[in-house]
Amino acid sequence: MLGDGMSENDAALLLFRDDLRLSDHPALTAAVQAGHRLTCAFILDPDAPYPPGGARKWWLHHALAALSEQVADLGGQLVLRHGTSFDELTRLRDETGAKHIYWSRRYTPDEVAADTTLKADLTAQGCTVHSHPGRYLLEPWRVTTKSGTPFKVFSPFWRACREDIRATGLGDPLPTPKKINFGAHLPSVPLDEVDLLPTAPNWAKGFEPLWQPGEAGAWARLDAFLEEGAQGYAKGRDFPAEPHTSRLSPYLQSGNISPRQVWAALDRAEHLGQMSGRDAEKFRAELGWRDFAAYLLFHNRDFEDCEFQPKFRDFPWRYDKDDLTAWQKGQTGYPIVDAGMRELWQTGYMHNRVRMVVASFLVKHLRIDWRAGRDWFWDTLVDGDLASNAASWQWVAGCGADAAPYFRVFNPMTQAEKFDPNGDYIRKYVPEIAGLPDKYLAAPWTAPDDVLEDAGVVLGDTYPAPMVDHATARKAALDAFEGLSAGA
Ligand code: FAD
Repeated sequence: MLGDGMSENDAALLLFRDDLRLSDHPALTAAVQAGHRLTCAFILDPDAPYPPGGARKWWLHHALAALSEQVADLGGQLVLRHGTSFDELTRLRDETGAKHIYWSRRYTPDEVAADTTLKADLTAQGCTVHSHPGRYLLEPWRVTTKSGTPFKVFSPFWRACREDIRATGLGDPLPTPKKINFGAHLPSVPLDEVDLLPTAPNWAKGFEPLWQPGEAGAWARLDAFLEEGAQGYAKGRDFPAEPHTSRLSPYLQSGNISPRQVWAALDRAEHLGQMSGRDAEKFRAELGWRDFAAYLLFHNRDFEDCEFQPKFRDFPWRYDKDDLTAWQKGQTGYPIVDAGMRELWQTGYMHNRVRMVVASFLVKHLRIDWRAGRDWFWDTLVDGDLASNAASWQWVAGCGADAAPYFRVFNPMTQAEKFDPNGDYIRKYVPEIAGLPDKYLAAPWTAPDDVLEDAGVVLGDTYPAPMVDHATARKAALDAFEGLSAGA
C-alpha cells in the first residue's frame, strides 16, 4: 500500500543500527511494502551516544560483513559511511533523491534525544522519517502500574507484560522480503578501513571459533541450543560448564535476531516437546529481564550512571588501581572469580551465574565502584548492552531497582562448589590449578602442602594467594553498607 502522494519510484533510505538482520525487521518490511526504491545504509557515527566497546566493535565488523553479503545476495548494496548521522543522511538523500527514511527505534535516553533531533532536522529538509519497533518484546511505554506510573519491580512488570502478550500476542515474526527494489550502487567506505578490529595485539583471536556474528550465526546458535541445552534450561542455566544457556545475548544485542523470533522459537520448541513448559517460561522471563532493563533506563534518565536508590549515592567506594587490575586480569586468587574474568577476556562472554559472582566480588569484597566493573564489561563483552549492564551491576551492588539486598554477599567458594561441582569450568580457565583434587579447587589455600606440591601449585607464584580474606572483606562490606543505612 503506498502512502499519501507516494509514487512507485519514490526513493527511500533504510538506516541499519542495532538491527543487523533482514528477517523480522518491521522497518525494512514497511519500506519494501511501500514500494520504494531502497538504499540500505549503515553509518559509523563518531558522535553516536555510547560508542561500542572493543569487543562489540569486533562483533560489529563481522555482523556488517555478514549483512553486506545478505544484501548483495538479494542484488543490493549495504552502503557504509563514516561521519555524523545527519551529514551522512543528508548526503545519501542528495545522492538518491530519497524523501523517506526508515529506521528501527532506539530507547536509551541519549539515543531517544539524538533520534528526536535527527528526525526534526530531516523533516525540516522535507524528508519523512518512519520509525518502527523490533528491539524489545514490548515498547517501554506499553505497560504501567494501575496508577499509570512505571514499574520499579520486575515481578509485577513481567506479569503485566505476560498479560499483555497473552491478550494481544506479539504478532508473527516477519519473513525476509523476497524481493527488494534496490537503488543504484553508491560509494561506500570499505569495511576494512574503519578500524573496528583489534590489531596489535589481536586480543580477539579467541572469539573467532566461538562466534559467528550475523543473522545466520544467530539461527545456528538458537538451533544448537534447542537441540543441546533447552531441555533443562530452568535448572541448568546456573551451571557454567553446562550447555544450558543459549549464548544468544550478543546476537540479540546487535539485532542479528529479534526477541520476537526467539519467542516464536520457544513456542515451537515447547509444542514439539524440545523444551518443557517450565523451561520455556523461564527463558521467556529472561527475555523479560532484558525488556525490564531497557524499561528502567527508558524511564530513569540517569539509571546508567547513578544509583537508583538515592541512599547508595554516598557509598564510600574504594579506588585501588592494582586491585581493579587483579580483578580484570583474573588474578584475585579466588578460582571462580578468576575463571569468569578470564572467560570474559578470552571469549568476550561470561556465564550469567559467574557474572554475578565476579560483580559481587568487585563491589563487596573489594568495595570498588560498580561503575568501574560496568565499564570493563562494556569494553570486553560482545553482548555489552547499556541497559542490561547497568541494571545488572546495580542489582548486584544492591543499589538498583528490585535489587538483591545489600547484605547478600556471594561467597565465591560455595558458589563454585554448588555451580561448578566437578570443577570443569575452573579447570578450563584456570589451568594452573587444574591438577588439584576437586575438594580444594574452589579454595586452593586450604589444600595441605603436599597436595599443592603434587598438583604443581605454588601459591603466590604459579597462582595468586587470595588477595583478600573472605570473612574480613565480607564484614568490611557489611559495615560500610550498614553505616550507610544508619546515616540514611
Ligand atoms: P540465556 O540464559 O540463554 O538468556 C536468554 C536471553 O535473555 C539472553 O540472551 C539475554 O538477552 C536475556 N537475559 C538473560 N538474563 C538476563 C539478565 N539478567 N538481564 C537482562 N537480560 C537477560 N546481558 C547483556 O545482554 N548485556 C550486558 O551487558 C550484560 N551485563 C551484565 C552484567 C552483570 C554484572 C550481570 C550479572 C549480568 C549482565 N547481563 C548482561 C545479563 C546476563 O548475564 C546475560 O544476558 C546472559 O548471561 C547472556 O547469556 P545467554 O544469552 O546464554 O543467556
